[in-house]
Amino acid sequence: MGKATLIDLRAERGARGGSQPPRPPGDDEPPVLYAKRRQIYPKLAFGRVRSIKWLLLFATLGLYYLLPWIRWDRGLGAPDQAVLADFAAGRFYFFGLEIWPQEVYYITGLLILAAVGLFLVTALFGRVWCGYFCPQTVWTDLFLVVERFFEGDRNARMKLDKAPLSVNKAARKTAKHIVWLLVSFATGGVFILYWHDAPSLAQTFFTGQAPMTAYVFAGLLTLTTYTLAGTMREQVCTYMCPWPRIQGALVDKDTLAITYRYERGEPRAPHKKGDAWEGRGDCIDCQQCVVVCPMGIDIRDGAQLECIQCGLCIDACNSVMKKVGRPANLIAYDTDENVARRCNRKPVTPFRPLRPRTILYVGVFALTGSIMLFGLATRSDIDISVLKDRSVPFVKLVSGDIRNTYTLKVSNKQRNVRTLSLAVEGLTGARIEIIGEGDTSGAAHVTAEPDGVDRYRILVTAPAAAVASAKSTVRFVLSDTSGTSSVAAPFDGPET
Ligand code: SF4
Ligand code: SF4
Repeated sequence: MGKATLIDLRAERGARGGSQPPRPPGDDEPPVLYAKRRQIYPKLAFGRVRSIKWLLLFATLGLYYLLPWIRWDRGLGAPDQAVLADFAAGRFYFFGLEIWPQEVYYITGLLILAAVGLFLVTALFGRVWCGYFCPQTVWTDLFLVVERFFEGDRNARMKLDKAPLSVNKAARKTAKHIVWLLVSFATGGVFILYWHDAPSLAQTFFTGQAPMTAYVFAGLLTLTTYTLAGTMREQVCTYMCPWPRIQGALVDKDTLAITYRYERGEPRAPHKKGDAWEGRGDCIDCQQCVVVCPMGIDIRDGAQLECIQCGLCIDACNSVMKKVGRPANLIAYDTDENVARRCNRKPVTPFRPLRPRTILYVGVFALTGSIMLFGLATRSDIDISVLKDRSVPFVKLVSGDIRNTYTLKVSNKQRNVRTLSLAVEGLTGARIEIIGEGDTSGAAHVTAEPDGVDRYRILVTAPAAAVASAKSTVRFVLSDTSGTSSVAAPFDGPET
């Protein structure tokens, strides 16, 4: 094959019927914007990538289905489910970690970590999330297992779909849809177990005593799983998911992606045993890479929005290369930079994981992770928040002292009753009075119920001489032997 640039090869590819074939001269008709869906019958692939995908399918589905059943002892009166989002109690439990509503920033931090982690993985390895981990991919793979079990592999399924309705066809189709619905119900059913105690909810669900929300969400998830993984499949990735559009901004010429090696494969042509390989490419145009593709595309047409980078075409082509005695990896993970270099007969460069954008993502990931770890390590099991009464900013007493009123909220994250001393700092001679419990010149005491939030109405009275300006600050300090927490609040006084 003569020296050709990547652009030459892609133009040639388009002329042979790529996804956007050139229009014939004189064709002035406006382009058709709606294309009827073409049914895709992906053939089962065999090889290293498929094995990895089976492993990941079992691991991710296993984790999803089993996690709500894992128990975690948190002591008397606390839920013993390891992973639980308890909306009624306002808690999120993750093994030893317990997040309260006012600590929702940890959830925000986790979402930032997940997003930046995804950016990093995409910058390094392209759409590895879509191809291997995305629930749409994983459940579609599972649904295909069921489909193959009842209807056979690609050719048998195509034949069955073309055949007239018969008892055999109806029985196979019905059985497939029933199992799909069961898998969908298991998916939706397990999802609701993350929001309630799993064993008791599973029991009440089937006796009709579970909360209505449990039935609604189980039904919704059953329906969406069945529709998205059973019937819509590749259309979800192509038309509904925003990720293919976003990831274009995250990859660069050094990102690894699944590519067809034009310079080695072209010119493609069928090959018979014993035929010479000189003057032609390694691609024998057998279409095996196309028939295994769950998106129904041809990787030889170059980078396409539809390609979820599942790697099954690598397995298909490697099997073909082995059969015809040519080297493996005509389709392989490679960078755009190297694809262009190969086409221009230049030496390829090693994969560069360290690039400005990946370093930036690692930096943001490490910073967010460190902040979260620091926050968790120094987290107090007592929280205090205070709200100053605004309707009456201050009261001047007959004695001349100034009084402000506050509402104090104390969150006790321990599972035992705690007696905590409450003091005010910042105003010399200030006294606290817990309404209903009496005046004190030093520290007051509050009783905090276990694993709960208590509210107190507080009066703080300070000598006029201590109130230096109309806007002073007072600090409330709450402590016991296991920790201290404090919060500042404004203390209003007359203009001086
Ligand atoms: S072209 Fe290859 S990697 Fe892309 S979706 Fe199809 S089989 Fe998967
Ligand atoms: S499987 Fe390999 S040899 Fe067959 S058409 Fe695809 S790229 Fe060519």
